[in-house]
Amino acid sequence: MSTPLAFKVRESAVAGKGAFAIRPITKGERITEYTGERISHPEADTRYDDESMQEHHTFLFSVTSRTVIDASHGGNEARFINHSCDPNCETEIEKGRVYIFALRDIPAGEELHYDYAYERSGDETAEDERRYKCLCGSPTCRGSIMEPKATYLKRKRAEAAKGAAKQRSSAPARKK
Ligand SMILES: [Zn+2]
Repeated sequence: MSTPLAFKVRESAVAGKGAFAIRPITKGERITEYTGERISHPEADTRYDDESMQEHHTFLFSVTSRTVIDASHGGNEARFINHSCDPNCETEIEKGRVYIFALRDIPAGEELHYDYAYERSGDETAEDERRYKCLCGSPTCRGSIMEPKATYLKRKRAEAAKGAAKQRSSAPARKK
């Protein structure tokens, strides 16, 4: 962890804190790892009961069907990277670890984003839709921080085809 960070956390116009490039970042560059305490999904659900939460802003990242990273416990600055429907970064999972990569060249000063694409369970209420409403302002904004409905339906079909409809997806996604 001796490489200096390519970004700095400061107040963002839209979403509280944000992560901003402090030097030009090259497309494909591995910017940072998303770190924190590794816990189970049931443990995450116990820690963060949606019903009792005022807003969605937790620092959970669903790594696999078993593991969630809770960045509010021992997490690094990666947790301040906000969501966008038209992001300049993406996350990739390598051997159970989550890294954030640049999707394109990013000039110094630009805010970093990736698509949270929270996994849908299929039974989202109107209140859920409100809570996870996206205000990223990009021309391609889909209006939700949750994954596109089409992605959810595609996953369901694939799971059904595998006869594993009960299994949770292991798609890389921020856990809502
Ligand atoms: Zn959006």
